Amino acid sequence: MLYPNLKMRLLDLPYPNRCDCCYAKIPYDQQICKECLDALLALRIRYADWAADQSAQPWDGGTVLFSYKDVARNGIIAMKEGDRGFANFAAEQLALLIRTECAPESISFVTWVPVARRRRRTQGYAHAENLGRAIAKALDIPARGDLLTEQQTSLRQHELPAEARSVYAQRFRFCGGNLEGKRILLVDDVLTTGSTLRRCTDLLRDAGAEWIYIATVCARIREPNPADSNI
Ligand SMILES: [Zn+2]
Repeated sequence: MLYPNLKMRLLDLPYPNRCDCCYAKIPYDQQICKECLDALLALRIRYADWAADQSAQPWDGGTVLFSYKDVARNGIIAMKEGDRGFANFAAEQLALLIRTECAPESISFVTWVPVARRRRRTQGYAHAENLGRAIAKALDIPARGDLLTEQQTSLRQHELPAEARSVYAQRFRFCGGNLEGKRILLVDDVLTTGSTLRRCTDLLRDAGAEWIYIATVCARIREPNPADSNI
């Protein structure tokens, strides 16, 4: 074919493709503009950076991509508003990392932190689910959305102080079933205090899960207190 991408190029005229982080117009075959990619690269962190100042976690390991700020935070907001572009981009990057960190063929399935049914109905999507399903597809392993559920509450987690989050995390429930011997990849968007993922890990572990690995797009790293440097 002479112009294999002609249709895409023509579609690009009335409906320009936009960067998933800053909404700038970009060529039809890109997901994220060059500036945002460079900015994301500068925000790259490792799971160990988050885990360094935390106590022991109930999961067996984890992976994260970016520090939760600036352009990465914009991507997460776009994802929460239903934009699949950043979710797909992050899923591809996470899948690449997971492939190097653990053998994907040894993972039984991918699951994710759920959203309450009513909230899902009004939103029309669940961003951690979009992410989890995209990772499962990239790794060619099964995805399961039938294990965990969230009870509806009017509280918003990101507005709660850290100490209230573990109590709030009790709203997650296990739907039932035997997970004996299962090796599970558990997905969420942002790792903050870890209370949500701890609760979900405990529920899966109580049901018999043998190994649980977490994957999140971002993690909030505690900024060093400027006052400390004066000591
Ligand atoms: Zn951009």
